[in-house]
Amino acid sequence: MNTPVTHYDLLIQGGTVIDGTKAPRFNADVGIVNGRIVAIGQLAGHTADNTLDATGRIVAPGFIDSHTHDDQAVLSQAQMPFKVSQGVTTVVAGNCGISAAPLRVDMDLPMPLSLLETPAEGRFTTFAAYLDALRATPSSVNVAAMVGHSTLRAVVMSDLDRPATDAEISAMQALVEEAMQAGAIGLSTGTFYPPAVKATTEEIIEVGRPLTSRKALYVTHMRDESDRVMESLEETFQIGRALDIPVVVSHHKVQNTRNFGKTKVTLPFIKEAMQHQCIGLDCYPYTAGSTMIRTDRGMMEGRVLIASSVPHPECAGRDLKDIAAEWGVSGEEAAQRLQPGSAIYFMMDEDDVQRILAFDDTMIGSDGIPVGEKPHPRLWGTFPRVLGHYSRDVGLFPLETAVWKMTGLTARNFGLHERGALKPGYHADVVIFNAATVRDTANYETPTQPAEGIDAVIVNGAVTWQNGVHSGVQNGQVILRKDAAATV
Ligand SMILES: [Zn+2]
Repeated sequence: MNTPVTHYDLLIQGGTVIDGTKAPRFNADVGIVNGRIVAIGQLAGHTADNTLDATGRIVAPGFIDSHTHDDQAVLSQAQMPFKVSQGVTTVVAGNCGISAAPLRVDMDLPMPLSLLETPAEGRFTTFAAYLDALRATPSSVNVAAMVGHSTLRAVVMSDLDRPATDAEISAMQALVEEAMQAGAIGLSTGTFYPPAVKATTEEIIEVGRPLTSRKALYVTHMRDESDRVMESLEETFQIGRALDIPVVVSHHKVQNTRNFGKTKVTLPFIKEAMQHQCIGLDCYPYTAGSTMIRTDRGMMEGRVLIASSVPHPECAGRDLKDIAAEWGVSGEEAAQRLQPGSAIYFMMDEDDVQRILAFDDTMIGSDGIPVGEKPHPRLWGTFPRVLGHYSRDVGLFPLETAVWKMTGLTARNFGLHERGALKPGYHADVVIFNAATVRDTANYETPTQPAEGIDAVIVNGAVTWQNGVHSGVQNGQVILRKDAAATV
């Protein structure tokens, strides 16, 4: 299948290819020209401007982070070391109902929208303006972006503590239409969070009407991942059916001790529903979650570690229990005083996490929050942790499956055209890693450390990370919804 080209911009020699389709690995060289893969095979004797020796290494498609909050980071921390160092070459942004656009310049951002740290002078009032900014100053990774329903509510509604009126729904619908025309790949919701708790199922369906003709995605951090997780799954699937579009259940989990083991019910329920409609799900490989600091009892059941606090930055990295004891107040009172900020909540069961990760259709997504000095270690460690700990050491699935869950499956579910696999004609997003040594080093104590065993990361043909050093290259592209790419 090789094209007749015999001189490449970049030639990756001597590696073992895992191509992102779940097919067994094979030995091959990979030739790249103009940011595209043009040849995969025995290319000895061919010449290249730049050659990378991949002897003894795996050559795979660059990883796609299916669940990020990198909307602002791709502009403000454009080299994205916490993602590139893991082998990530594409991020899906705009999750959990939160997006960087559209915003009003004069609005206050309620939590969790303020987690994106949007400076008032850098706000984008249209989705098109956000994507234009990304094109003007590219990041080191590719970005596919969704528009967030909580963001739209905050833009349109004067009071978030009620369902939207018909007029407000029309206004949000117009903003979704604008985002769709700009090339957004979908709409996300976060009905778990205060700004959208009062949104009804009907409100979400009506706001999402512009998705239907485009078959754009509905992606959700569901209303409840605890006692009412089954009802929440049903609501998610109902919205997908009403709009006749694919849905993605974000960071699937079951939380709180009394629900441990419930994945034995949720996963078969998801599998059954997949027979009738298009459903995807993602998962991060940890038993702790991370989100805005909350005071509800369900979230405070297990260990709570403060990740960031605006009024008390000195508390980052400390246990809420210790802070409360030191201040002589209850955990709730301490949490209230620490707001706004983010925290790490230990609230899942290892068996559930493994069951979800091993479920055929589960994609890998970090849900990393790129804010503060003590973030959840998933921000720096998610992908190597799945490759090293869960695939190699625990033996949860073969390496080919692990790679597929972070590349081919994700590209298919999110409609990322010509990415997520190593094939001639595809964009040259590539990671070279050592299967024997790859591992995450980020942990709860020291969460901002690059992984080991990631040798090189190539984004659209440009070497962006090599031997633990960022090359400074910012060659990421904006990935538009496929039907929009032709017209924008
Ligand atoms: Zn979320």
